Amino acid sequence: MGKKAREILEKRGMKVDELIKKLNRAYADEWLAYIQYWTGAQVAEGLMRPNIEAEMMEHANEELGHAKKVCDRIIELGGTPILDPKDYFKQTNCGYDVPKNFSTKALLKQNIDAERCAIAVYNDIVEYARKGGDTVTFHIARSIMQDEMEHEQDLEDLLTDITVK
Ligand code: FE
Ligand code: FE
Ligand code: MG
Repeated sequence: MGKKAREILEKRGMKVDELIKKLNRAYADEWLAYIQYWTGAQVAEGLMRPNIEAEMMEHANEELGHAKKVCDRIIELGGTPILDPKDYFKQTNCGYDVPKNFSTKALLKQNIDAERCAIAVYNDIVEYARKGGDTVTFHIARSIMQDEMEHEQDLEDLLTDITVK
């Protein structure tokens, strides 16, 4: 599994096992983000519910796409993705914010916090990959970070729209 990929990176001085750990933590975050969005979309109520539910479902699917990209990279580097969902909670950076208040406003705020955390996580991986000369991980993390920034902006815009001035 990914023997040559690993060899090249180790020659450049990259600590591949440390990179895999970071990717697995991000992988846990993606699954929890997926579940948080998906669950929130089901229970949402209040202002602009149809629009916000649709946006949350779209983001949920994009988080699942991120999980797949991160998973593929972990395997290419010779690692194993987290196999037991219980470990998502042990390894996550951003956690899981249980949607207890179903108002669209509260759900948007929860997910904005999660997106801000995700941006910081990928910013760290981008830097780590850049320093270690791993251009492939660099590009994957950079592209995911761009999606997370777009997610943050989409939610902020929706929150502005429902906030009475
Ligand atoms: Fe994501
Ligand atoms: Fe996101
Ligand atoms: Mg969007």
